[in-house]
Amino acid sequence: MDCLFCKIAGGDIPGDIVHQDDEVVAFRDIAPQAPHHIVIIPRRHIATVNDLDEASHALVGRLFLVARNIAAELGVAEDGYRLVMNCNSHGGQTVFHIHLHLLAGRAMGWPPG
Ligand code: 5GP
Ligand code: ZN
Repeated sequence: MDCLFCKIAGGDIPGDIVHQDDEVVAFRDIAPQAPHHIVIIPRRHIATVNDLDEASHALVGRLFLVARNIAAELGVAEDGYRLVMNCNSHGGQTVFHIHLHLLAGRAMGWPPG
């Protein structure tokens, strides 16, 4: 499968990996939108949030747990951070392997663009 994030998770393309376990990999975004910008993905290929089902939805909870742990390790948990998952064109999704963005290190605006 020609998927950028599957290749990063599999080590075929280098990534600045900050966490990996049996189910989840997290690495620094190549075009950071905040002082800390981490992308957290399941190893399993799921293209979009629309493709989640009963067999895969618990993985999303794992992504959030990993995000929480990384935020604590980065020392940003108390100041706060933003978690974002974009879906399809109106959501701004450009890589079709679900991923949770962890943005931290500055105050975020609302609403997002
Ligand atoms: P999306 O727009 O799909 O929500 O997020 C995709 C993210 O992947 C973007 O923030 C983009 O900067 C990041 N990205 C795209 N290509 C690469 C890459 O080769 N390496 C890394 N680390 N991040 C990438
Ligand atoms: Zn993939």
